[in-house]
Amino acid sequence: MLLIFPPVAKPSEPPAGVALLSSALKTHGQSCTVYDANIEGLLYLIDKDKTPVDSWSRRALKNREKLLSDLKDPSLYVNADRYHQRVYDLNKVLSISVDEKRFKISLSDYSDNCLSSVSSQDLLKSARHYMENPFYAFFESCIRPKILDSKSEYVGISMCYLNQALVSFALAGWIKDNFRNKKIIMGGGLLSSWMSRPGFNHPFKGLIDISIKGEGELPLLNVMGIDGHGQKHFIPDYDFVKNNIYLAPGRVLPFRSAIGCYWSKCRFCPEKVETRPYDTQRASKVLEDLEAVDKKYAPDYIHFIDNAITPAFLRAISQQSFAFKWYGFVRFEKDFMDPDFCMALKRSGCDMLKLGLESGDQGVLDQMNKGTHLGMVSTILKNLHQAGILTFVYLLFGTRFEDESAAFRTLEYIKAHRQYIDYLNLAVFNLPKFSDDAQGLDTQEFYHGDLSLYLNFKHPHGWNRYKVKQFLGKTFKKQILSDGGIRKNPAFFSSNHAVFFQNQEADVRM
Ligand code: SF4
Repeated sequence: MLLIFPPVAKPSEPPAGVALLSSALKTHGQSCTVYDANIEGLLYLIDKDKTPVDSWSRRALKNREKLLSDLKDPSLYVNADRYHQRVYDLNKVLSISVDEKRFKISLSDYSDNCLSSVSSQDLLKSARHYMENPFYAFFESCIRPKILDSKSEYVGISMCYLNQALVSFALAGWIKDNFRNKKIIMGGGLLSSWMSRPGFNHPFKGLIDISIKGEGELPLLNVMGIDGHGQKHFIPDYDFVKNNIYLAPGRVLPFRSAIGCYWSKCRFCPEKVETRPYDTQRASKVLEDLEAVDKKYAPDYIHFIDNAITPAFLRAISQQSFAFKWYGFVRFEKDFMDPDFCMALKRSGCDMLKLGLESGDQGVLDQMNKGTHLGMVSTILKNLHQAGILTFVYLLFGTRFEDESAAFRTLEYIKAHRQYIDYLNLAVFNLPKFSDDAQGLDTQEFYHGDLSLYLNFKHPHGWNRYKVKQFLGKTFKKQILSDGGIRKNPAFFSSNHAVFFQNQEADVRM
């Protein structure tokens, strides 16, 4: 089977989902080819002939090969200003590769003025009018030979992110029109979220032959007439990864140590709404799988893509040493209260931890059911910093539990701990459409689209999105900026590149 991962997603590492699907198929004797159409498609656009529109684009176009090679060079990742210049230049080359009046494309996003990614009618339109899609020439030149080579009656499309949706459907429409004997299977995180909505009525029937919700390994085996015996965990198959193709200073491989979230209690969390059941293996078995990946592919970095790495697995990995470095999301667990444990994690290769703090106000955290105590957070941030592990802290503003004074308490908390925080991610809360929390709130649609996953709502304390954005722009960022200490979040790539700035020359902006 041919499995395709369409554009646009961050082009710094290969996709994990198709690697797991490929492993499941190959384990059961099926042939499988994975094509990362995301990185290949973006490189196709960057490489194609185009006319510069101004002096910036002329310079960027002239240097495009150098920009690509610089982003793969570790020496770029010591100076945030130089890094950003390269990233913005490369992005400029990409953005002028499409009709800028209609399409907006960047190294992490894709949108179309005429079609919405959250409207099933627009997605079907994208499929019908695939020739208008900026990747159409790429489909013809690069994907056509792959489909012609594939003997399987199926082509799989993995659609994980909203920025992939319109291109995924254009690709599906093109396949349907050009390869009438092929059946299309579609899966991935975004489709799973849509399929989890109450009353989802499969609007893509007729275009998509088989839609898969949730982890696709067993359903895909079933399609092939194979009973997978309930095996849910596979060692990812990265045989499709080309050397030195991704925009990162080394080989980064994503790895999932568990399915779902072991906590699953945060009231604001979309994962909770989608009820993705948590499932893991023994920590020692996960380590064995990781060793197998290390032995076969020799990655420079492992990116753990779990919602939160389990304490049991963190304890197991802290006893190991690998040739690769690693990073991922964790919760503020009590193990981190021990400085020796943090040092052991650093010795095991941990270069950065992403931490969902959400708020610096204990009352807000308690109402969210976050299970986090700020006293512990203070010690943990300090311990991680002293162990030499970068801390990437995620904050969420504007939940129903927060008011303006709570947001100010968060600001004060961050200021008080700024010397232990390397990066901050600031997000404005979107209310998941079918969450328990949406009940009893005065809600409105954000976008006109039947597949929209979030709602706007009238905040019970008047702390609405406009005020939250004003606060972040005019107060929070200004005060954190003037206090210094927090690093600039890498444009487009965010944490996917932040981890590489281990020894950064002085730079203090967010
Ligand atoms: S820890 Fe993260 S993934 Fe788990 S429930 Fe909370 S917000 Fe969701």
